[in-house]
Amino acid sequence: REKELGNLIRRKTKTLDGERIHLLANIESAKELREVKRVNAEGVGLYRTEYLFMNRATAPTENEQFRDYKKIVTQIDRPVVIRTLDIGGDKQLAFNYPNKRSSESPLGLRAVRLCLNHVELFRPQLRAILRASAFGKLSILIPMVSNFDEINQVLTIIKQTKRELKSANIAFDPRVKIGGMIEVPAAAIMADIFAQKLDFLSIGTNDLIQYTLAIDRVDDAVNYLYDPTHPAVLQLIRTVIRAGEKANIPVSLCGEMAGNDRYTRLLLGLGLKNFSMDATYLLNVKEQVLSADTSKLRYLVGKVINADNTTEAREFLSKLNAV
Ligand code: PEP
Ligand code: MG
Repeated sequence: REKELGNLIRRKTKTLDGERIHLLANIESAKELREVKRVNAEGVGLYRTEYLFMNRATAPTENEQFRDYKKIVTQIDRPVVIRTLDIGGDKQLAFNYPNKRSSESPLGLRAVRLCLNHVELFRPQLRAILRASAFGKLSILIPMVSNFDEINQVLTIIKQTKRELKSANIAFDPRVKIGGMIEVPAAAIMADIFAQKLDFLSIGTNDLIQYTLAIDRVDDAVNYLYDPTHPAVLQLIRTVIRAGEKANIPVSLCGEMAGNDRYTRLLLGLGLKNFSMDATYLLNVKEQVLSADTSKLRYLVGKVINADNTTEAREFLSKLNAV
């Protein structure tokens, strides 16, 4: 089996009907790049930078971050999407900052909210990412955006940071792309409007499912309700993909759902072209892409979305996986 999948490594990722699909990797540290390269991922679709900040007594300095981001983008030599600090819920900081609370809840001052309220954490990270952008193809991804003002504030801070770097004669890529994670239902519903301000969107289904279905993603007692194929979730995913098409900007999906090969055909049928996942799943997903005919999937995807009970939805999902 391992060998069979190994044969797919050098194949171009295209569906049977010729749709070019991009498979990227999620990483939490540079150590994972070996596997990313082994499976020939097209790049890093999500670098979760919070692991650089967790379990330590002080925040990483700008230079420390710069060295880390530079190392990643030069080692892989392919596009890398760096997500800014996404703290909250299951990911907490050990070091102190002004007005720090004992923990940030999933509905609290987390992710971009924390960064905008604590620019002393945000600015050094943005400077570090921008400086690293001089060494490869980097993009910046903002987690948990939920309204227009947050996007505007982030864009303003990035613009100021670029100006600072420029006047200090420090190199960076002036065209670095800025994207937003769509992981709050409000953001999915407003994706059309968000897409006008951003260069790309990335759907974070782990949180999108949590917030849409009101299920704590780390509470085992409600785990049985955590369903990526819930019609409400699928409708939101479809809304975001359509918003990207309309605005002509790329949409990727980087939640765990992207790495589960039971959902590959479903997502292809919804029109998804960019998948980002843990590299260990990439070849399984690739196998599904290579054997799928997207023109045949659309009808069945509509059936899954419009099913009026879970059993029916599951039936259509298995049909979808059999064509
Ligand atoms: C997500 O929410 O789907 C996601 C990719 O981000 P994280 O799992 O780090 O919250
Ligand atoms: Mg998330």
